[in-house]
Amino acid sequence: MIGEHRREALAEYGITTVGELLEFYPRKYLDRSQVMRIKDLRLTEHEITVVGKISYVNWIKSKRGKEWLVVGVNDGSGLLECIWFQGIQYWSRQLKEDQTVAVSGMINDLAERKFIHPAVDQLGDDGDTEFYNTGRIVPLYPGGMALRKAGLESRTLRKIMRLALDFAERDLIEFLPEQDLHDANALTRAPAMRQIHEPESNEQLHAAWRRVRFEELFIYQLLFAYRRRMNAELPGGIAFDKIGPCTKAVLAALPFRLTEGQRGVLTEIRHDLERNYPMQRLLQGEVGSGKTTVALLAMAMAADCGYQSAMMAPTELLAEQHAQRLLLPAAAAGLTVRLLRGKQRLAERREILEAIAGGHAELVVGTHALIQDQVQFARLGLVIIDEQHRFGVEQRTSLRSKGIRPHLLLMTATPIPRSLRMAQMGDLDVSTLRELPGGPRQVVSAIRTEPDRAKVYSFIAEQAQAGQRIFIVCPLIEESEKLDTEAAIAYHERVTRGPLKGVKVGLVHGRMAAEAKQIALNAFRSGTTPVLVCTPVIEVGVDVPEASLMLIENAERFGLAALHQLRGRIGRMGQRAFFILMPGPRMTVEAEDRIKTLCETDDGFQIAERDLELRGAGEFFGTRQSGEFELRYSNPARDADLLSLAAERAAALIERDPDLEGYPELNRRFQSKHAHRLNFPASG
Ligand code: ADP
Ligand code: MG
Repeated sequence: MIGEHRREALAEYGITTVGELLEFYPRKYLDRSQVMRIKDLRLTEHEITVVGKISYVNWIKSKRGKEWLVVGVNDGSGLLECIWFQGIQYWSRQLKEDQTVAVSGMINDLAERKFIHPAVDQLGDDGDTEFYNTGRIVPLYPGGMALRKAGLESRTLRKIMRLALDFAERDLIEFLPEQDLHDANALTRAPAMRQIHEPESNEQLHAAWRRVRFEELFIYQLLFAYRRRMNAELPGGIAFDKIGPCTKAVLAALPFRLTEGQRGVLTEIRHDLERNYPMQRLLQGEVGSGKTTVALLAMAMAADCGYQSAMMAPTELLAEQHAQRLLLPAAAAGLTVRLLRGKQRLAERREILEAIAGGHAELVVGTHALIQDQVQFARLGLVIIDEQHRFGVEQRTSLRSKGIRPHLLLMTATPIPRSLRMAQMGDLDVSTLRELPGGPRQVVSAIRTEPDRAKVYSFIAEQAQAGQRIFIVCPLIEESEKLDTEAAIAYHERVTRGPLKGVKVGLVHGRMAAEAKQIALNAFRSGTTPVLVCTPVIEVGVDVPEASLMLIENAERFGLAALHQLRGRIGRMGQRAFFILMPGPRMTVEAEDRIKTLCETDDGFQIAERDLELRGAGEFFGTRQSGEFELRYSNPARDADLLSLAAERAAALIERDPDLEGYPELNRRFQSKHAHRLNFPASG
């Protein structure tokens, strides 16, 4: 069945052996519960599958020479049109009237039921269509063009997989601890593979996928368990075992008392620093929660033991801000702060480098300029990385290598869900600052729809009259700054002529010159224009603590995390504030869920957890941050139970059999795929 042509097509997917073929898993399954009736179609952000008979195939050519293919699919409840602008030849040959097909895609508009370039699976010749009545579950495989053109569409792959399983099933030996799989309610390897390609029931299929997910999670947890072990066992760590005059002087110089949260975190940090192996800790807390203050005290503890600290921030502006904030309290303790920038006068730079190398600068702050070769520390004992996700693993590692196994404190203002931390940063300890020093914010969130619009505007006008500051955030338009800007300008014009006539309304958008922007912002801050219409990317500089109302237009287009961040811009002085979400006509099932979640909770961590559940790890972090660990099959939020079990069992295994002598195949897989990552001291 596998001739030269197909072999090549499979090789494009990295498949050259039977084992690899069997790990080419279905992209989804078709059964009664997965299929939607055409009359029930909804707007969604995920693919929906419809099964029906092709009622017509029309190849349309316009007078201007444009061509497209329209295929009508009828499932008895309604008609869905599938449209192709590309691959017309191929699809017109493949798709015939009366054929039964499963088509998967999304609709953009409820009034016009259309799938553009849907995924198509032809059913019918091997009893597939029986799944409606018999409850059979039909695997659908990834259907790239290379595979399709080699005749490897789902129906053929199903047959090939059956042969491959018959041929190789006996060789699929389990390499994970069987007791762990049993406790995870997961099948062992061979039966799991059989169920994945030829499912008997949803229960069996579920248990099969648990095997795959457990393996993925377990291997990473082994890696973390190793790293923790290595970190604790390698010689040469530094113990900061005394709190001395520096720490006390810095504490005394702070113009405020530490919050309970800060004191708790400092106790955790101090406990780490006292051991003779490096701290590996992540400190999270939103902007303004007091992380930098905690970092300062950790640096003072290092100074008390005669060690230097380095603090790296992702931008010059942040580094400068840090250096400035550290200056006074550090000076009170007789400590010197130096700021190393990318661009500095040569003489100044030389002088700073000398101070660092000579050990005269105890607190060194900088951007990634800190990791350059010329930067040499006399005694680097503590490395702090602010906004850690903005740096790559190598950058973090190279700053660390400027000392001999220094302590490490990573900081982040983006709440990282617990499950995701466990799955991707399992070798880090975590501290969290949950409260803001100024007390909790009081923001009321509410959804308003089009019929409420007039009322919303009169509320805004009323609030403006009462001296409040109000943001109106315009729709996000498909990542186009130009379109966003045009929309904001038009919106501004519309409201100033109409519903907000008589109210002073300012405008800020990304294409404005810096000076004009500053003028508009100042006018907003001072209350000259109490209402500000702006594009969705409210820049970092826009920090107006007085703002107490925000209206979000087309709220359905924003992600959960983005909405939460926007909400964080109002009520910053603890005053009562209102966050009004106005969804547009393209409200999807998922958008409804996001907006509901947002109105239900104000807890950034809960929101992040839900965001992760909805989107999966890859998208949660975005391409830039997905970084070291890719989770292909598991979602840490949804598979939280498997994740905790994997973490617990992996740690226990490394404890009792550190060289995996009882698990040669597991060891082989671990060594070949993952052991190189042991070189990096900590993830995060
Ligand atoms: P982060 O680094 O998390 O953004 P900072 O440590 O920079 O937070 O603190 C934010 C602001 O709050 C700073 O102006 C800081 O001086 C102030 N601050 C920090 N801790 C406290 C506290 N315990 N009480 C009052 N103000 C504080
Ligand atoms: Mg900060």
